Parts: sequence; structure tokens; C-alpha cells
Amino acid sequence: MSHSLLSVRKLSTWFESGRGRLHAVDEISFDIARGETFALLGESGSGKSLTALSIMRLLPATAGVSGEVWLEGQDLLALPERDMRSVRGGRIAMIFQEPMTSLNAVLPVGVQISEALRCHHGITARAAQTRAIELLDAVGIAEPQRRYHDFPHQLSGGMKQRVMIAIALAGEPELLIADEPTTALDVTIQAQILELLRKLQKDTGMALLLITHDLGVVSEMAARVAVMYAGQMVEQASRTDLFAEPRHPYTQKLFESVPTLGKRGTRLAVIQGRVPPLTQVFTGCRFAPRCEFAWQTCHERTPELLTVRSHTAVRCHLHDARYQASAPAQPTRPEPLAEQTTATAVGEELLTVSDLKVYFPIEQGIFKRVVGYVRAVDGVSLSICAGRTLALVGESGSGKTTVGKSILQLLRPTAGSVRFSGTELTQLRGAKLRARRADFQIIFQDPYSSLNPRMIVADIIEEGMVAQGVGKSAQERTARIAQVLEQVGLSAETGQRYPHEFSGGQRQRISIARALAVRPKLLVCDEPTSALDVSVQAQTLNLLKELQRELGIAYLFITHNIAVVEYLADEVAVMHQGKIVEQGSAAEVLRNAQHPYTKTLLQAVPKIAG
Ligand code: SF4
Repeated sequence: MSHSLLSVRKLSTWFESGRGRLHAVDEISFDIARGETFALLGESGSGKSLTALSIMRLLPATAGVSGEVWLEGQDLLALPERDMRSVRGGRIAMIFQEPMTSLNAVLPVGVQISEALRCHHGITARAAQTRAIELLDAVGIAEPQRRYHDFPHQLSGGMKQRVMIAIALAGEPELLIADEPTTALDVTIQAQILELLRKLQKDTGMALLLITHDLGVVSEMAARVAVMYAGQMVEQASRTDLFAEPRHPYTQKLFESVPTLGKRGTRLAVIQGRVPPLTQVFTGCRFAPRCEFAWQTCHERTPELLTVRSHTAVRCHLHDARYQASAPAQPTRPEPLAEQTTATAVGEELLTVSDLKVYFPIEQGIFKRVVGYVRAVDGVSLSICAGRTLALVGESGSGKTTVGKSILQLLRPTAGSVRFSGTELTQLRGAKLRARRADFQIIFQDPYSSLNPRMIVADIIEEGMVAQGVGKSAQERTARIAQVLEQVGLSAETGQRYPHEFSGGQRQRISIARALAVRPKLLVCDEPTSALDVSVQAQTLNLLKELQRELGIAYLFITHNIAVVEYLADEVAVMHQGKIVEQGSAAEVLRNAQHPYTKTLLQAVPKIAG
């Protein structure tokens, strides 16, 4: 591609660590043309963000970099730092996942944009202010004159990301690097930001390097895609080709592990094992220990990134004519067939919530006079039967987590009734409530913060059992701990290790084991997979389904992820501003939404299509 705006050639990045050299990015090459959107797709630890930081030369001093990064005839890796500073924020700008950490909390947002303008164009303060207001308008912020003076904390997450984009636009970049720009945002806000990026590209002709783990975002935005695994590029293709026919076994698994409506009742595909440590010296293919097709050649010879058709390249011996004769025709270690998981029978009504209200007082003045109430939950009614899953769907701030906590009496409701197996929980206090707690447990989004890092896993699980009086003797409890660890797919020995020794997905299994140990009838799952990579999410969802089938547990599944709802839920309740706006069977609500808010929510979900 001779007319590339950016040409990356054999870019490698490494760090020296106590365990040897860590090869975070290994000989990555790609081109981006003017106005084009190129996506780097990969799970955590694949090296995609470090590729972007290497291009921008924003790495810590301990990092080593080799290769070439050409920006129209200029090798950025060879530029003196002084010249590189004018490229950063000028010809190339970057936006990150979490806008709050990139904005200065003590400066009005307009001033931050003006500073960027003055820095790049050397214009007067007055001219910079006028242009900053124009930029705020261009990124879709209403009343830009007034918002100019707002501080970051006065803006919502979506508005802060718009401000970051305005700052990035100040230098009139030819290339914008967007690192997971919408991952921290709600789905409707994500749709607005993606639309804004598309519009700005059309208006200004800037190219976009989009870094994401989300196949839906890639599908909606990218013209071409590179898939990264363990620091290497394993596949590169046009979006249409990649989505029509993913060729690398890893890419294929990524597609198969995404939950969808069509996969209901089946197990999701999972990628066995973990990403190898990048301090390892590799012989052969890095994906071989996890690949179902791996044969001897894969363990002995390192695959090259081979062009298999114009604009499509794959790093896999299956696509290399030299080795195809010896390649197995079928997977050598096929994953167990995706069996139909039979639906659990609808049991008796377990939980009935009626007209639940949770109001938080708004206090003012030194006497903390109550001047009003925030109606976080405002008249919510729902019910769950034994062995069923109700998904409570909504965006951040809709009140869904507050509903979950007030059902479990972790937060006392202001009014309303919560009946669990015939008992009114809102009336229970002290020992009586504690005695019922074993029946309803909760698992959280971030398992790490809910597991005590100073305790071994067995003690963490036992602590809950002792509190609930489950297991009469230490021996009985030890046996139960081994049993629940096995149930969640971990061996009994893992009980002797500390939480930090596990991956994110394994830690979520430990949280599930801890909840299971006290034999709950209802599990409140608060965004349990949103911090996990898609392949690990698939393992967790499979596990939750299997446990429900075996043990008949009911789930209140709190989520903003519609794909998970489609795959898992029997019933759906959609929350907006503290109220349930629509409720019904998953099929009814998702296929034939009636409420305008549900329709907006469903429309905003990026669709995976070629
Ligand atoms: Fe699998 Fe072998 Fe291809 Fe690697 S080279 S992805 S192990 S088939």
C-alpha cells in the first residue's frame, strides 16, 4: 500500500522483568490509508494497546522498541523527542477508554481544549476560545458556550469522551488512535460516540486506528481488521472477509464464543487454557496449546503471517501449502459437541418483589436539612421462579444494582415488599435475617475486589460457610469446599492458593464457588461477566447455565449486555430511571419491544455482520 498515511513495519516492544524479557508486541506490520478505519482486535494481554502506545512513543523508559513507524515518509521511531511532541496531539491524536483519567479535574473543559489549540496553532486566547466552542459544538455538546466553563465532574461519561475527542481534534489530526473509546460507556452513548467518530471522519478525512475487543464495534466501524494474539498479529483481512470467513482457529473461536439469541440452549464455544506468559521462549505456534487443530508441526515450527488472498493474511500452518499435506482433516482435540442444555422446569415462585422503593435523601446546609429525594428505585415489581433467570437490563444509573442490593437487604428499601419463599424479608432483622442469607447470594462484576487478597481460597469459601452455619465440622466443610471448587471447574488443590494467583475468569469461578458453598436458592449476578474477555465470558456463562440445570438455582441477572440476555434469560425486565418500563419473556421483549426506551436500547447494540 504505497499511499499509506501510516506504515508500521516489524514493530516490537519488550520489557525486562524479573522473569526475563517480556515480548509484549512482536513484529507487527500494517498500513492505514487516509480516511480509513483500521481495527486492532484482541483480548486483554494481546498487545493491541501497547502497539498504539509504541506508535505514539508513550512507553515507560524501561521499554525497548524496534522496527519502523512511518508517517508519510517520516520515521517516528527515529524522530528526536522534541519533534515527536508536535506529532503527538498534532498529526496523530489519541483518545482512551476512561476519559476522566485523561482530563484535568481542576480546569474547565473549554480551557483544556483552548490550551490544546494554542499549543498546536499558536493562536490568541480569544481565538482559541471561539474555536474551542466550535469544537464543543462539532462533537455534539449542546449549549457549548455554557459548557465551556464546566469542570469534568459536571459532565456525564459520554460528554467527557466528547470533550476528549474535541481536544484530539484541536490539532487537526490526520490519524486518531481510539483505544477502547466506548468500553466504559452505556450502549446508547456508545452508539452516539461511534456515530460522531464516523461523521468527523467524513468531514475531516482523518484516519482511525480503532483498538477494541468488541466484535460488534469492529463490525460497525472498520474497513480492515487485524486480530492479535499473545503479542502477534494472527490474521489481517477486510472486515467483510473476516466476518464472512474467519480463517485463524483463534479468530474462529472468538466468533463462536459470542453469546447470541441463536445459541440459546447450547453451550458456547470456549478456548481452553490461558494466553501463554510472554516471557516464554516460543517454539512453534503460540496458540498451539489451546488449538483444536494443533498437530506436531505446530509445536515445532513457528507459523509465518502468510498472504492467502489479496489483503488477507493468516498466521497458521493450516493455510501454508508446505504443511497442508500433513495437517489433520478434523480437529485433533475437538471440543465436546455443543450439547442442547435442556431448559430447567419452571419451579414455584421463589421471589416476589412488589412496589419496591429506594429513596436517598438530598441534604443541604450545615444542618443537613433534607430538601428532596433521589428516587433510585421507584415502584419496582418483579418475580422469579425457582430454576429460572430474570435479566434486569438497563444503563448505568437506571437503578438495577440498587434493586439487587435491596432485594438482598444489603440496602434497606424505603417502601415495598420483598417476599422470598413465603418470608417477608423487609421485616427480618439481625439473627433472623442472617439465618436466611444462605438462601440468596450475590456475585459481583469485579471478583478481585470481593475476594480478600490475604486469605487463601479455601478460607475465603469457608468464612461464608461458618457465618451461615453450613457444615457441622471442619472436615465436612473441607469436603464441601472441594466439592464446590470441582463444580466450578477448579481442582480442590486450588483452595490452597491466593486470589492473585488466578486469572480474572478463574477468580469469578471462585466467587461463584463461594456463593454455591452455602447452597443458595437465588443468586443475584451483578454484571458478572462485564470485566471478562469474550472467551472467558463464554466459560462463565456455560458454568452458570450448567449449575442452574443441575441445582435448580434461580438467577437475577443484572446486566447492560443485551447479547448475554439473549443467550441466557428466560424473562427480561428493562429499567430506566428507577422504574421498570417493560417486562416479559425474553423472546417477547427482545423480538417485539413495545416501549420506546427498550427499542432505543436494542437499536443501539452494535450488530455483528460482515
Ligand atoms: Fe492451530 Fe497449528 Fe494453526 Fe497454530 S498453526 S493456529 S496450532 S493449526
